[in-house]
Amino acid sequence: MNIENTFITPRIDDQRLKGRPDYRMLVAGKSVDAASGKAIERESPGHLGMVVGRWPDASADDVKLAIAAAREAFDKGPWPRMSGAERSRLLYKVSELILANLDELALAECLEVGKPILQARGEIEYCADLWAYAAGQTRGQEGDSFNNIGDNRLGLVLREPVGVVGIITPWNFPFIIASERAPWAIGAGCTVVLKPSEFTSGTSIRMAELAREAGIPDGVFNVVTGYGNPAGQILAEDPRVDMVAFTGSVRVGTLLAEIAARQVKRVGLELGGKGPQIVFADADLDAAADGIAYGVYHNAGQCCISGSRLLVEESIRDEIMDRVLAISAKVPYGDPLNDRTRIGAMISKAHIAKVEGYVRAGESAGAELLTGGHMAGEGAGLYYQPTVFRNVRPDMSIAREEIFGPVLSTIAFRTADEAVALANDSEFGLSATVWSTNLENAMQTIRRVHAGRCWVNSVIDGTPELPVGGYKRSGLGRELGRYGFDEYSQVKGIHVTMGTPARWFNG
Ligand code: NAD
Repeated sequence: MNIENTFITPRIDDQRLKGRPDYRMLVAGKSVDAASGKAIERESPGHLGMVVGRWPDASADDVKLAIAAAREAFDKGPWPRMSGAERSRLLYKVSELILANLDELALAECLEVGKPILQARGEIEYCADLWAYAAGQTRGQEGDSFNNIGDNRLGLVLREPVGVVGIITPWNFPFIIASERAPWAIGAGCTVVLKPSEFTSGTSIRMAELAREAGIPDGVFNVVTGYGNPAGQILAEDPRVDMVAFTGSVRVGTLLAEIAARQVKRVGLELGGKGPQIVFADADLDAAADGIAYGVYHNAGQCCISGSRLLVEESIRDEIMDRVLAISAKVPYGDPLNDRTRIGAMISKAHIAKVEGYVRAGESAGAELLTGGHMAGEGAGLYYQPTVFRNVRPDMSIAREEIFGPVLSTIAFRTADEAVALANDSEFGLSATVWSTNLENAMQTIRRVHAGRCWVNSVIDGTPELPVGGYKRSGLGRELGRYGFDEYSQVKGIHVTMGTPARWFNG
């Protein structure tokens, strides 16, 4: 099938590519460069050769200054002691400032990541809602009391912030992932050092600048930029950091968990996925086909919650495949700056080569490549064709490993039991979808799937109220909703004795 005709060629004469900013880190409320003066330049992955941002390349010492600022703000500053009402007001202000700066933030996110501009706008709006939700809940952070432990005893449970939190984020959704963590950590009364991916750091710096503009005190929200090692790793290693909230690969997550274990430091991990989309014969096939395409092509498949494993009931397999192929042939992909684009660029040359390697491995293992399977755009940017495999066996690497590209792997099943077994036959457990118009079947199936973020008749849906997080090797801990506040809080039990205390020794 020829799908090159839906490719939208990137235009390097687009004025929006001009004059992209120099960013500086935010430490103790001040904008700073790396002491070495070194910087990292970001080239637009959708428009090779065009630099779209520059940020400091922090050393371990640069990061230690940010950790010291967050420590000072936590130990001596007003933030952890401020009323929930006041903290809430400031968080809400950040939400308003995000909306007020929507155009700028969406453009930067689009150019740094390579994601479609319309998608980037939607994401920034969603982030404003994340901050607004966390702002509201900040006032509702309560403890507990026990009035039933005896006439002369009263029990109190106080909720307290964990302390200094190091937040480390990946490149695929920089603004969303930071907005799923920072407002919850800050709302709980913690102070933060955020280390975004070296590929996509600009919008995270802007987020902290907006927090400063909103009036969040200096040192509460610091951002350092640089490479994973040293800039990220020092957050896990430095004993002044009480908790590390990491989102990224299993490889780095495991390393940080080992470092944290040695210090008995709290760690939250959101890692990889290989999300199953289970489609039953009684599904609304049109909606399911659209959802399957969205689930695997969203963000060019660079999505931890991608629905990249299609498990489809055998009797409708060919019909579903035809519909997914029809969408794949029509979906506009290419230039992230074009409003029609639905699939943008991939993050880096190394990453697109990795995706290409998986596709070739799938072919060699005997899977049937129905469409796509090649790079696109003739070198103007890092583009990959929407790609669909059929007749995939569960033991193939394209069925088991996270490809992180627009590549769908299809496996047929005959019974619901078989579908659940296939869905759970994975080291990951981040997300899962069931498509069925029979609600009982859908619910009975989804409750048997081992995954932290599930959908019935939708995919990649999200709302600040519901928790996200992984089973198995997909991670530890939960973000969002009230669960997100638990992540950044600890509780203290206080036994209060009233009247004359009972004597231990009366002699
Ligand atoms: P990555 O693990 O390479 O990098 C993530 C972050 O960790 C970056 O900021 C990087 O600089 C930093 N880092 C790298 N080495 C480090 C070290 N030694 N110490 C401390 N920090 C270090 O991941 P990536 O390539 O940026 O992102 C892709 C991965 O992220 C995928 O596996 C994807 O599934 C996962 N991801 C998970 C979620 C989720 O919510 N579960 C969301 C998005 C992405």
